[in-house]
Amino acid sequence: MKKITIAIDGHSSCGKSTMAKDLAREIGYIYIDSGAMYRCCTLFALHQGLINPDGSIQTEELERRMSDIHVSFRLNAETGHPDTYLNNTCVEREIRTMEVSSHVSPIAALPFVRAAMTSQQQEIGREGGIVMDGRDIGTAVFPNAEMKVFVTASDEIRAQRRYDELIAKGESADFQQVLENLRERDRIDSTRAVAPLRQAEDALVLDNSHMSIPEQKQWLIDRFKERIHA
Ligand code: C5P
Repeated sequence: MKKITIAIDGHSSCGKSTMAKDLAREIGYIYIDSGAMYRCCTLFALHQGLINPDGSIQTEELERRMSDIHVSFRLNAETGHPDTYLNNTCVEREIRTMEVSSHVSPIAALPFVRAAMTSQQQEIGREGGIVMDGRDIGTAVFPNAEMKVFVTASDEIRAQRRYDELIAKGESADFQQVLENLRERDRIDSTRAVAPLRQAEDALVLDNSHMSIPEQKQWLIDRFKERIHA
């Protein structure tokens, strides 16, 4: 059977990646976390001192250095999920910190960053058989994806999930700061000029505010089965 392309977009911290990973594993597709790629660009900029103390970005220098950013994914045999590598170093943990979260949306709004990441994502997904999650996958990266899902949930529920995740990882976190960060990221992501976060017209919408992880997974598998048998 032909393998399709599945695009899962939505607001920050709404559980897209958990759903997308579970679905990919269940159906034997490749999972790509496009947000991790923007987080790698941000980590690179931080490491290279290209983000000023006031949060402004040294864009000309970053643009010049874009070809030094190589993002790859390698399956972690222990977790069964892919880990993110920046220039051959595993950065799976570092890219999820609040520091990276607080700088990633302005970096992801830069047109040259989006152009570089979009073409890499299109190359990775060229053959289909992929589940990719992000903000613009169904609208800009794979506008012809056979299955598109747009996920959302209330701000407070999303912030609580993100906060619990950070605490579980042993990071220090403040609920209010997490809530403000996700609102600010959504604002920047939705209002940027290039590939803003929006629901594709042909996307199925899932508000998972009151759904458990197994319920979301089942919902997604049911939609997938409908799509491939349509
Ligand atoms: O998905 P995640 O929250 O890890 O993404 C981090 C950030 O990367 C988002 O807040 C957004 O600014 C950016 N992003 C994007 N386009 C994507 C995926 C993520 O602009 N396809």
